[in-house]
Amino acid sequence: MREIVVIGGGNAGLSCAARILRRRTGETARVTVVEPSPTHTYSPMLSYVGSGMAGLSSVCKAQRRYMPSGARWLRARVTRVDPQARTVALDNGTELDYGDLVVAPGITPDLDRVPGLQAALDGPFAATNYETQLATKTWDLMSGLREGSAVFTVRFDDAACGGVGYKPLFMACDHWRRTGVLGGLRVRVVVEAPELFPEPRVAGHIADALRRYGVETVLDACIESVDPDARALRITRNGAPETVDYDALHVVPPHRAPAWISDSGLGDGGSVGRVDVDPETLQHVRDPHVWSLGDAAGLGVMSSGGAIRSQSPVLVHNIFAASSAQFQRYDGYTVAPIALSRRTLLLAEVDRKLRPEPSFGVRDLANPRPWTFLFDRWLQPALYWKGILRGLI
Ligand SMILES: Cc1cc2nc3c(=O)[nH]c(=O)nc-3n(C[C@H](O)[C@H](O)[C@H](O)COP(=O)(O)OP(=O)(O)OC[C@H]3O[C@@H](n4cnc5c(N)ncnc54)[C@H](O)[C@@H]3O)c2cc1C
Repeated sequence: MREIVVIGGGNAGLSCAARILRRRTGETARVTVVEPSPTHTYSPMLSYVGSGMAGLSSVCKAQRRYMPSGARWLRARVTRVDPQARTVALDNGTELDYGDLVVAPGITPDLDRVPGLQAALDGPFAATNYETQLATKTWDLMSGLREGSAVFTVRFDDAACGGVGYKPLFMACDHWRRTGVLGGLRVRVVVEAPELFPEPRVAGHIADALRRYGVETVLDACIESVDPDARALRITRNGAPETVDYDALHVVPPHRAPAWISDSGLGDGGSVGRVDVDPETLQHVRDPHVWSLGDAAGLGVMSSGGAIRSQSPVLVHNIFAASSAQFQRYDGYTVAPIALSRRTLLLAEVDRKLRPEPSFGVRDLANPRPWTFLFDRWLQPALYWKGILRGLI
C-alpha cells in the first residue's frame, strides 16, 4: 500500500487527496493530509465579499466537513521536508515518513516586500481581498467613497489568479455609476505588467470596460512602496519615479510560497519560491517521489483554482503510473473569471501558450455575459464545496 502525504488541505490538497481515495483500480493508498487550519477558505468568493455581494460565511467553512473520508488529518504545520530520508517535519516536533509527497501549501501575501503596505492596510484607506479578514473592508471603503481618488492595483505572475484583481474595480465602478457618484471620482488602475491582460482578446474587453467607466490606466508599473500618511503609492515606470495618490486603495499584493520549500531543496529558485516540478507531469525535477500542484507549484502559468481542476487528475494518474512512459500531461489550462460589472463576467481561459482554451468548446465565454456572472457567483461555489473538493469534478 502506498503511503501518500499531502501538505495543505486547500483547494489543491483536498481535491487531490479525495481523488486518490476514490480510485477503485490498481494499488491502494493510505493518505495523510497535513493542514493546520480548522477552517477551509474558498478564496474566489472573497471578490464578492469585497464587492458587497456575499458574506464571509460563504467563504470559510469547517475544514473537518470537507476532509475526504478515509484520509488521516494531522492538524499541524510542515516546517521542513527531507527528500533523501523521505520525511516531513511538523511544528509539533514529530516527523512523518512518506512514500510519495504532494506539496500543496499555496502562496500567501508577502506584505514586507512593499515597504509601507502593511501599515497602509492597517490604516483606514487601503484594503485587499487577498487577506480574508480585509475583504469586507474593501467594500466598506469603496461603497463609502463619494469623491476623491480610487486606485486599484493588478498583477499576474506572483499572485493567485492575478486577473481577478479587476473584479473589485469593475464591481465598484458599476456601484458608483448606479448611485450617481462615478462622475465625481478619479479612478485609476495600476497594472504591474506591460498589458492589461496577457491574452489580447480579454485585454480588449477590459480596455472597453475601462473606457466606459472613465478609468485611467497606469501600465507597466512597479510599486516600490506605499506611504499611508500621504495616501500615495510610489511607483516606477521605465525607471522613472511617479506618485499615485489615493483616497481608497485596493491592492493585489505580491505573494510567496512557504520558505521551507526552498530551504528543503525543493524550490525553483524564482522570486515566489515555488516547487520545482516538471510543468507537464507535475513530478519534481530532481526527486521522483515529490509532486506538486496548485498555487505553490512552479508551472509557468497564472495559478488559479480552475487550473487545479486540470492538474489534479494528471497528478493522481502519474503517481500511480507504472512508468513515466504512461504519464499524462497538464496542458497549462488556467482561468481568470473577470466581472466587468455587477451582472456581467467573462471567463479568460487559456493554455500554457496563452491560446484560448474554452472548457465547453464555446469560444465566446471570453465575451462578458450575465449567465457567466451567475455561474461564477452562484453555481461555481456549489460545485466547489460539493464536487471539486470531493474529487468528483
Ligand atoms: C481574492 C481571491 C480571488 C480568487 N478568485 C479566483 C477565481 O475567481 N477563480 C479561480 O479559479 N481562482 C481564484 N483564486 C485563486 C484560488 O483561490 C487559488 O488558486 C486556490 O485556492 C489555490 O489552491 P491551493 O490549494 O494551491 O492553495 P490554498 O487554497 O491557499 O490552500 C493551501 C492550504 O495549505 C495550508 N498550508 C499552508 N502552509 C502549510 C504548511 N506549512 N503545512 C501544512 N499546510 C499548510 C493552508 O492552511 C491552506 O489550507 C482567487 C484567490 C484569491 C485570494
